[in-house]
Amino acid sequence: MTGDSEDPNAQPAGDEPAAGLTDDQRRTKLLKTVAALGGTVTPRRDPMAKHGHAFSGLEEGIEADLSFLARGDYLDERFFDRVTICTRCDSHHLNIREVCPACGSTHYTEEPLLHHFRCGFVGRITEFDPGDGTGRRICPKCTVQLKYLGTDYDRLGKTYLCIDCGTSFQDAPVRSVCLSCETEADADDLATAEVIGYAITSLGTAAIRRGSLFEGDSEVLYIAGAAVYRPAIMFELLEYEAKRIQRFKGTFSLMMVEAKGQEGAAVPEDAEANMITRLRERLRGTDIVGKVSEHVFIACMPQTAIAGAEIVRSRFAEEQADRRIMLETTVVEIAGPDDLAQLLTRIRAATRSKSIGK
Ligand SMILES: [Zn+2]
Ligand SMILES: [Zn+2]
Ligand SMILES: [Zn+2]
Repeated sequence: MTGDSEDPNAQPAGDEPAAGLTDDQRRTKLLKTVAALGGTVTPRRDPMAKHGHAFSGLEEGIEADLSFLARGDYLDERFFDRVTICTRCDSHHLNIREVCPACGSTHYTEEPLLHHFRCGFVGRITEFDPGDGTGRRICPKCTVQLKYLGTDYDRLGKTYLCIDCGTSFQDAPVRSVCLSCETEADADDLATAEVIGYAITSLGTAAIRRGSLFEGDSEVLYIAGAAVYRPAIMFELLEYEAKRIQRFKGTFSLMMVEAKGQEGAAVPEDAEANMITRLRERLRGTDIVGKVSEHVFIACMPQTAIAGAEIVRSRFAEEQADRRIMLETTVVEIAGPDDLAQLLTRIRAATRSKSIGK
């Protein structure tokens, strides 16, 4: 590789060291880099990188920022692979091999086993060597020569002979030794780490447009660990999605969910959190959930026609088991900005009258 003018560690143009940037600026910049790389980043094998994988075009040490952005729904996680790692030091540089069950040594020979049909003797192939240099195979039990594989004798897998302790064994335990910290472990006890790729979400694209993340409690709520957008940002995201599908002649569907307490009772907070968790389970990673007003939520399903949305809605409504709340669910398909404008006017009117009557 000498004489190659291409620096393998070169960063994409405009990606100077992130010194002097705030967390927000650095993460927004990372989003832009992901967008410039085509909107997705897929791990590639790299033995020297953490867990043996790295991202082409991204700086090292950005894992924390990537997972921060994924938690905030700016990026969508995409499973790539699983890596076996040391339980003590996290290294993926492991030597995994079979060991002698008696003494733990790896100093052994592997030999095929032969089975002599005539007398039933089973032994290692070297036991059938008479040592006369002729290459003949003589059964050590009955002293008859073995001639024809399949007629006289058969091969029965392989066996190990430990050179250190002399134990002969067939099922060898699998042990690992870490090349970084020398910790030994049974292969069954090793830890694994998921290797994740990322794809930019509609929220990530919106953050790039505005030049900063939607930070803080004012825009994103976390209900039961899932990002739920507050009304202003949700409406902004929906308007963007409506313009986008108009350009690409697509469609998307919305599901409205309103939770009400039984017989006028208040909606218990945990019941609402459970409902959001169930809703999230029904949706894809690219779908986003926003809060429109108290106890009213909206789920946006990109590239979904109303028939598909109705399937999601009916399944979600059917499995409602918490008797403390009632759910009202509806779906609507949006084919362009006009559809959305009408819907948002209705929603805003409804929520306004509700907050006045409160
Ligand atoms: Zn280790
Ligand atoms: Zn041994
Ligand atoms: Zn024999």
